[in-house]
Amino acid sequence: MCIFCKIINGEIPSKKVYEDDDVLAILDISQATKGHTLVMPKKHYANLFEIDNNVYLKVMAKAKELALKITEKENALGCNILNNCNEAAGQSVMHFHVHILPRYKDDDLKLEFIDHSKIYDLDNILKEIK
Ligand code: 5GP
Ligand code: ZN
Repeated sequence: MCIFCKIINGEIPSKKVYEDDDVLAILDISQATKGHTLVMPKKHYANLFEIDNNVYLKVMAKAKELALKITEKENALGCNILNNCNEAAGQSVMHFHVHILPRYKDDDLKLEFIDHSKIYDLDNILKEIK
């Protein structure tokens, strides 16, 4: 059983932010920014590619609601919603979850997009992915 399934069934303690029949939100044990929260389905799906669409919509709707609430309560200036899908993308727990990362003026979270448009041909990419 995965570590989040153990949290969901109470074998491992957690700081619960929100819970209903389908969704659990907990504070991330390692706070990348203050209020860093994980929102997940109670049913096990390994990742974004595996999760049922209806469950996904429930999780994301709750993530949106909690993002606003946590941002306001913590007096944050905004937030990032992040999902890592597969190890190559940084997923370390193979149970679908989204991160809510409240953002503050001087926080040290780095989510940098570097411009590689000089290397890749956009038309070629379109042909490949459409
Ligand atoms: P990922 O890298 O898979 O996107 O994110 C997994 C997250 O789960 C990490 O940010 C990590 O700190 C968090 N995490 C791992 N183990 C536990 C745990 O036992 N309890 C809690 N609350 N968070 C955990
Ligand atoms: Zn699981």
